Amino acid sequence: MDFALSEQEQKLWEKAVEFTREHITPRAIELEKRNEFPKEVVQKAYEAGLMNLHIPPEAGGPGMSLLSETLVSEATGYGCAGIATSIMCNNLAFAPLVIGATIEQLKTYVEPLITGKEPKFGAFCLTERKAGSDVAGMATRAVRDGDEYIINGVKCFITNGPQASLFTVFASTQPELKHKGLSCFMVPKSKNVKIGHIENKMGQNNSVQSEVIFEDVRVPKECLVGKEGEGFKIAMMTLDKTRAGIAAIATGVAQRAVDEAAKFANIRHQFGQPIGNFQGIGFMLADMAARASAARLLTRYAAWRADHGMPVSKDSAFAKFFASDAAMQNAVDAVQIMGGYGYLTEYPVEKLMRDAKLTQIYEGTNQIQRLVASKSILRESVNLNTGFHVKYEGRDGPMI
Ligand SMILES: Cc1cc2nc3c(=O)[nH]c(=O)nc-3n(C[C@H](O)[C@H](O)[C@H](O)COP(=O)(O)OP(=O)(O)OC[C@H]3O[C@@H](n4cnc5c(N)ncnc54)[C@H](O)[C@@H]3O)c2cc1C
Repeated sequence: MDFALSEQEQKLWEKAVEFTREHITPRAIELEKRNEFPKEVVQKAYEAGLMNLHIPPEAGGPGMSLLSETLVSEATGYGCAGIATSIMCNNLAFAPLVIGATIEQLKTYVEPLITGKEPKFGAFCLTERKAGSDVAGMATRAVRDGDEYIINGVKCFITNGPQASLFTVFASTQPELKHKGLSCFMVPKSKNVKIGHIENKMGQNNSVQSEVIFEDVRVPKECLVGKEGEGFKIAMMTLDKTRAGIAAIATGVAQRAVDEAAKFANIRHQFGQPIGNFQGIGFMLADMAARASAARLLTRYAAWRADHGMPVSKDSAFAKFFASDAAMQNAVDAVQIMGGYGYLTEYPVEKLMRDAKLTQIYEGTNQIQRLVASKSILRESVNLNTGFHVKYEGRDGPMI
């Protein structure tokens, strides 16, 4: 078993850490107050080669692994989870296309967005006001009309919606079939694609979410990704992978909370000594550091499994709920360790607390992650032989 990163991964990690130190961490609090898309930082991340890592070389991308993406997400998430979300949103938007589209489709619709001088953005459009966790309840419709589809519907919470040039849209082509009637489309920005309400958030204010309204949007039939009815499968395969990216951002937040709290515990004196000398504080730090480490291992393991073509649903769900719960708990503990200073906005940890909360919600809430994981566990247990046998009333079998 080898926990070392490859040479390429190690270099990417170091580049992302350096980028974060130089361009993200020192500006995160100031930029958050602007409450807008962090354009300059994202432009620099694009120029540094930290975006669109998973696009295959045939479509102009570097064709890197999911593990590589998680390295960038963890490093940038350490500096600011909101900026990390803005940077990695293309991973989510384009993943369904890498999974379901042909190379010709990728070359036509994605390559021009990832090879120019300026970064261009995609947006992943699944959620609707009445269809959150239950995506099959969506009302967006795509109707075939000759060689075109006509799309109508309103999506909400769409990250990078106002920035996007290409929308990956999930719509029902056969409503009566519920999730089996969903299809996936690439929709270029046009006058009939409108940006609605901009969501106001508690945290991660260095990323932007909006409603995206599709009003009689006509796209050629070539914009269908995969076949009609494959949308739900494509969405689930996408989220199985991209959840490792959210886990990675959360791991960055969890680690940052440890580091800020430990630094403070060393320099803050009370009762004539550093507060880190008090066992009550030291034990909290130990638990926080262990949580961050475990989150990192689960995240990288899930990404590694995906990169090796192994089933990843359960493991990416584990990574997502564990790492985001770790981020939340560590952020709360860091505020506690820093006492009154932890509660002030000029110190970084209250922001960690607000930013961490979102990682427990987006790309599938942690209840949904536990649902995904528990279904896998129960399925696997059917054929599990634990070696334990109970005789009950003379019959072989479990006690009921
Ligand atoms: C900042 C932000 C960015 C986002 N970005 C995007 C994006 O780019 N694209 C996109 O499509 N969506 C995006 N989302 C949407 C996000 O994925 C959803 O908010 C999330 O999946 C939950 O849906 P919901 O908010 O409608 O909550 P609901 O589904 O209404 O859930 C409400 C509560 O009920 C619980 N619940 C629901 N069903 C079950 C169940 N079966 N068992 C147990 N508990 C359950 C949930 O866990 C939650 O606690 C974003 C959301 C936010 C806040």
